[in-house]
Amino acid sequence: MASAFLRRMASSISSSYSHYALKHRVVGTPRISRRSFAVSASKFSNENREFVIVGGGNAAGYAARSFVDHGMADGRLCIVTKEAVAPYERPALTKGYLFPLDKKPARLPGFHTCVGSGGDRQDPEWYQKHGIEVLYEDPVISFDSNTQTVATSSGKTIKYGSLIISTGCGSARFPEKIGGNLPGVHYIRDIADADSLISSLQKSKKVVIIGGGYIGMEVAAATTGWNLDTTVIFPEDHIMSRLFTPSIAHRYEELYESKGVKIMKGSLIEKLEAGADGRVANVVLKNGSVVEADTVIVGIGAKPAVSPFEAVGLNTSVGGIQVDSLFRSNVPGIFAIGDVAAFPLKIYNRMTRVEHVDHARKSAQHCVKSLLTAYTEPYDYLPYFYSRVFEYEGSTRKVWWQFYGDNVGETVEIGNFDPKLATFWIDSDSRLKGVFLESGTSEEFSLLPQLARSQPVVDKAKLKSASSVEDALEIARNSL
Ligand SMILES: Cc1cc2nc3c(=O)[nH]c(=O)nc-3n(C[C@H](O)[C@H](O)[C@H](O)COP(=O)(O)OP(=O)(O)OC[C@H]3O[C@@H](n4cnc5c(N)ncnc54)[C@H](O)[C@@H]3O)c2cc1C
Repeated sequence: MASAFLRRMASSISSSYSHYALKHRVVGTPRISRRSFAVSASKFSNENREFVIVGGGNAAGYAARSFVDHGMADGRLCIVTKEAVAPYERPALTKGYLFPLDKKPARLPGFHTCVGSGGDRQDPEWYQKHGIEVLYEDPVISFDSNTQTVATSSGKTIKYGSLIISTGCGSARFPEKIGGNLPGVHYIRDIADADSLISSLQKSKKVVIIGGGYIGMEVAAATTGWNLDTTVIFPEDHIMSRLFTPSIAHRYEELYESKGVKIMKGSLIEKLEAGADGRVANVVLKNGSVVEADTVIVGIGAKPAVSPFEAVGLNTSVGGIQVDSLFRSNVPGIFAIGDVAAFPLKIYNRMTRVEHVDHARKSAQHCVKSLLTAYTEPYDYLPYFYSRVFEYEGSTRKVWWQFYGDNVGETVEIGNFDPKLATFWIDSDSRLKGVFLESGTSEEFSLLPQLARSQPVVDKAKLKSASSVEDALEIARNSL
C-alpha cells in the first residue's frame, strides 16, 4: 500500500501538473515523442516536465530504462546532463577504454548503458525512439523546491513534477598550489577525462599514479599494456587498503611488480612540479624524494556531487543526499540514486553511500519502480564490488575478481593465486560476512551473493583446512 507520504506527493504532483497532463494526455495534443534527443526545452509547449533526472551517468541510464519498462518515458522524461554523450557504463573508462590503441579499446557507442547487465545499448537514438528528452552539456546550477524548478548553465529553467538526482561523484583533486591542475595531471571520472589521459599517454614515457585504490590500480594495469614506465605511489601499507587484506594485497602487488610496475607505499605527496615546458615533470614526496613523470594520474577518491542540491538534506556522516529506503529525500518529489545517495543499508542496519556500479543500477531501478507504482518494498542492497585488470589482448594474466558483503572479522584465505584465490571474512559468531573470489567460474561467482546474503555459520577450522578454492566454496555452500 502506498504510504501517506507517497499519497501526499502524488496528489501534489497531480495538482501542479494537471494542466500539463491535460494538454499532453487527455485533450490529445500530439505527445512529445519520437523527437530528436537533442531537443531544446523550448520545443516543449511549456517548461514543465513530469520527470526530470539530473545527471546522465550510470544510474540515469538504468533509471531511463525503468521508465521505458513502465511505459512512462515517452514525452514525460527529461535527462539533464553535464556530459556530451548519452549515459554509459562508467567502469569501462579505466578498463577496456584504456587498452592500448592497437588492441581494440572499447569506444562508444559500444558501452552505453545498459549493456553492462545485458540490456539494450541505449545510444542517443534509443532515447529519441523512446521519446526521452536529453539535454547535453548543460549542468544544473541551481534549483528551487518551492517553484519545483531547476536552472541550467545555458539559462534554461525546467519545472519538474518529480526530480531524481543522480549526479554521482566528482574526483577528489590536489589543490592548484601544489600542482594539481598542471598540464599532464589527470583525474578520471568521465569520458572527456579518459580521452585527455589517452592523448597524454600517447606521448608519455614515465607515468606516475597517485593512489593505490581501484582507480589507481586499474590505470596502472592499463599503462603496463602501453609499455610505459609506471610507478604507483600511495600513503597506506598496501594497495586497495579499504578492501584487501595485507595478504590479498601482497599477491596482487607481486603481480603488478612482475609486470614492471614500481610500487611506493607509505608515501605522501608534497607537490607536483612543472618542467620548462610547463607540463608536469616531477612528483615530489614529503620525504624529499623525487619521481620523474610526464603523465600523472591522481586517483585519491571521489566526493559526492551534491551542489546545487545541498538544501535537499545532506548526511553528515557519509556525505551525499540523505534518502529513505525508497530513495525519497526529505523534500517531497525529490529523489536521489547512485553514488550521491546516502541510504539505509538494511542488511547491516547503517546509513551508507555506495560508489559502485551495481548499486547505481539497482538503486535506479528500485527508485523508479517505487515512484511509478505502489511498490513499497524497502531497498535491501547487498554490497558488491568487482574489478577487472590486465585484460587487453596478449596479456598473459587476466584478472577478474568479485567481492560481496562486508569485510569485517577474521579472514580465511584459500588458494595459491594460480590464478584462483578466495578469502572469507568471518565474524566472532562464526558467521560468514564477506567473500572475495578471483578467477571463479560463473557458477562459483553466483554462489558468493548467496553466502554473503545468508551469512551462514561456518566451521572455520574446516574452511581453513580446505585443499583448494573449489573445496572451500563447497564447505561454505554446505553451511547454507
Ligand atoms: C573510472 C571509473 C571506474 C570505475 N570502475 C568501477 C568498477 O570496476 N566496479 C564498480 O563497481 N564501480 C566502478 N566505478 C564506480 C561506478 O562507475 C559508479 O558507482 C557509477 O558510475 C555511479 O553511477 P551514478 O549515476 O551515481 O554516477 P555517475 O555515473 O558518475 O554519473 C553522474 C553524472 O552526473 C553528471 N552531473 C554531475 N553534476 C551534474 C549537474 N549539476 N548537472 C547535470 N549533470 C551533472 C555527471 O557529469 C555524470 O554524467 C568506477 C568509476 C569510475 C569513475
